[in-house]
Amino acid sequence: MTGPQTPRQPARRTGPDDAARAQELSRRFAEVYGHAPDGVWRAPGRVNLIGEHTDYNDGFVLPFAIDRSALVAVRLRRAAEQERPAGQDEDATGRHVVDLASTYAPDGGGLSRARFRIPGLAPGSVGGWGAYPAGVVHVLAGLDGVEVPGFELLLDSTVPVGAGLSSSHAVEVATVVALNDLLDLGLDGPEMARLTQRAENEFVGAPTGIMDQSASLRGRAGAALFLDCRSQAAELVPLPLGRHGLTVLVIDTRVAHSHADGGYGARRASCERGAAALGAASLRDVPEQADLTGLDEETARRVRHVLSENRRVLDTVARLRAGDVRGIGELLVASHASMRDDYEISCPELDLAVDTALAAGAVGARMTGGGFGGSAIALVPEVRADLVRGAVVEAFAELGHRAPEVFVVVPGEGAGRVR
Ligand code: ADP
Ligand code: MG
Repeated sequence: MTGPQTPRQPARRTGPDDAARAQELSRRFAEVYGHAPDGVWRAPGRVNLIGEHTDYNDGFVLPFAIDRSALVAVRLRRAAEQERPAGQDEDATGRHVVDLASTYAPDGGGLSRARFRIPGLAPGSVGGWGAYPAGVVHVLAGLDGVEVPGFELLLDSTVPVGAGLSSSHAVEVATVVALNDLLDLGLDGPEMARLTQRAENEFVGAPTGIMDQSASLRGRAGAALFLDCRSQAAELVPLPLGRHGLTVLVIDTRVAHSHADGGYGARRASCERGAAALGAASLRDVPEQADLTGLDEETARRVRHVLSENRRVLDTVARLRAGDVRGIGELLVASHASMRDDYEISCPELDLAVDTALAAGAVGARMTGGGFGGSAIALVPEVRADLVRGAVVEAFAELGHRAPEVFVVVPGEGAGRVR
């Protein structure tokens, strides 16, 4: 299999909307913490165009960063704040304290706040959303020669939470790019991707792969990121949707998914079992035409999904390079069938979203993300977008499902500093 060619890193760009959001976030930060932040950083969510559950099998993925992102305003604690007068409570403002606040408050109103001390950080020691920034701090503080001081952080994200668009990685990536800049760590995209993966695996406790944070860190406007999850070699593949009169709709089924739950881990375990039985270190090393008859029926289907999905990623890249954007539609459809039947990670709402979108004129559609809920994507002619949206909403209502959120996503810029 031929992977991506060597990466190139063009300069970052951010849009005017980000500048306005960042300014508002700085103002809010001053309200919350009583002084200005050191800066504002941005990390987008992602949509995976194709290549699902291939990342932890050392395979290929093709995600893109989306035009919805987490912004964080951050201020490191100053030396003056680090010297506590005798007797003063170090926990209140001491140099090792991290204060977090998010404008996302699911229980309505106000800010979601969290606080932790850096010494003694261990998996399980910080609960709730604070675990994501804490995980990043934990892995950075564990690097040779790196000392992470306490800081204050205010988060505002437009990535829908729990929709399979990686709102959690947006939080982690925004935190890591901010600390990388402020502490002058000099980490590049692939290094930050590995570190956030470790934060997620070792600290948060979700056995996720390298795709989501790579898309957020290394994505570029107007392109998808063809990533070899084994070497982390990546190539930007142009995705000129507008030129072909196409757009990508996200259909958020609003069925909650959770990677920390058993389904995801069970699929990983099946893949490891399959690879071992086939005498390979990972499924990446298993040839596409391998004889799977020695495996039990379920493991064989899991393996078949991964092998065929890797092939579909390569075919999708080939078609995009040839300028055949519409031609990727059938590969998206085949990918969904494979996840539904072989990998068994779809659900009735995702299947309904895909089938309805296709019937209403989408050229391709598939569930995206880890599965068991979350979102589907549909590649649709711009002129049919409203029709597809209406058909999906109606189909969900007819079957008594919760109303889905349907919205357009545009391949956007990867993470960086906004101000
Ligand atoms: P996904 O990453 O697909 O959106 P996850 O369940 O992996 O779903 O991550 C969602 C979790 O990420 C939330 O429960 C919360 O802990 C955290 N999170 C994401 N965005 C925010 C936010 N804006 N504010 C606070 N926490 C957030
Ligand atoms: Mg997540």
